[in-house]
Amino acid sequence: MYPSRVNTDRSTPGSQTSLREANRLRLVDAVKRFGGLTQVELAAATGLSTATVSTIVKELIAAGVVETHTTSRSGRRAQKVTIARRVGLVAGVQVGHRHLQVTLADFSRTVVAEQQMPLPAEHRLDTGLDRVALLIVDLLERVGAQTDELLAVGLALPAPVDSATGMISVRGVLRGWDDTHIGQVLSKRLATPVFVENDANLGALAEHDFGAARGARDSIFVRASYGTGAGLVLGDHLHRGYAGTAGEIGHVQITPDGPICRCGNRGCLETVVGATALLEMLRTSHGPLTLRDVIAQAIEGDPGCRRVVADAGARIGAAVATLATGINPQCVVVGGELAETGEVLVGPLREAVLRHVVPNTLAPLEVVVGELGTRAEVMGAVALALRSTDVASDGSAVQGFAP
Ligand SMILES: [Zn+2]
Repeated sequence: MYPSRVNTDRSTPGSQTSLREANRLRLVDAVKRFGGLTQVELAAATGLSTATVSTIVKELIAAGVVETHTTSRSGRRAQKVTIARRVGLVAGVQVGHRHLQVTLADFSRTVVAEQQMPLPAEHRLDTGLDRVALLIVDLLERVGAQTDELLAVGLALPAPVDSATGMISVRGVLRGWDDTHIGQVLSKRLATPVFVENDANLGALAEHDFGAARGARDSIFVRASYGTGAGLVLGDHLHRGYAGTAGEIGHVQITPDGPICRCGNRGCLETVVGATALLEMLRTSHGPLTLRDVIAQAIEGDPGCRRVVADAGARIGAAVATLATGINPQCVVVGGELAETGEVLVGPLREAVLRHVVPNTLAPLEVVVGELGTRAEVMGAVALALRSTDVASDGSAVQGFAP
């Protein structure tokens, strides 16, 4: 998951000191990567003996790098080793089309504080980033943390992002947010590194690290919300593509003579299954509705709303099938607001995927509802901040490792 470290130990390579240091690093890395492990699991994850693990854990507890918590797993009590709270916190931020969510978490992946705030439609970058910065500082104060305890921020945006610059890579998708190094601007305000990423990509990362795609090396996350997108995790790593637009299934053309999309192309999937299209379809029969109304009524059993969501599922499924044929993932996880309708959306989506994808009887493709719901994107931002921050064996943090 992380690039191998350069050994900066001045002692002779292979000496007792450098070996012990290498083992400590290996152990801290494993604890961080999995959020928390028992000593037996740590031995399995690092290849070290349980005796060595026990000795190193004692040293690391004394140094304040790790701590232990008693947990109960299937009725059995176990001591889990986690990175100590004093090492620091990370923040996950999701800027949606209509809301802002900020979550503070520690390195054991425990959420310590979170808050949501509505945003006006077509919100602008300057006010948006001001709100993000204020909310993060406010949450830090609430948990009694100093600003320098914040080690990294992950930011989820509803647009394709070039991860090298932290800029939106397709103009016009998030109006008013083009041409700005969003990561740099926020990083300056908070005096901490900020990692910017597309929200569907982060949903994919979250479901892989904490949710329904846990244990799957290759997975697709589909985000059916106001817009439609997908994120890819290949070989346990986020696959962004060259310019950060991998998985943009919302902008796959499905009706060549269809309406012009906000991306400038014509007849994109999003012009058929995006919120604007779905609400328009219901206007005559149901009057003006919001996407939340449609979801609530579909869950309650309203036939018109169910039909609109189900048809969207089938259209999205056909696009996902093309993507799945190209990359052969182990599972497709469906998230975004529309997935709150469960099988109303996912049933037809699964059927369309399985009808169009190359059949594989040995390892059939699974299509499942996400476990993290609408928290997937913000938890993905937390995962990105955690993956981008390395913890050294003395408990200090090092930023800049690629997820
Ligand atoms: Zn488009």
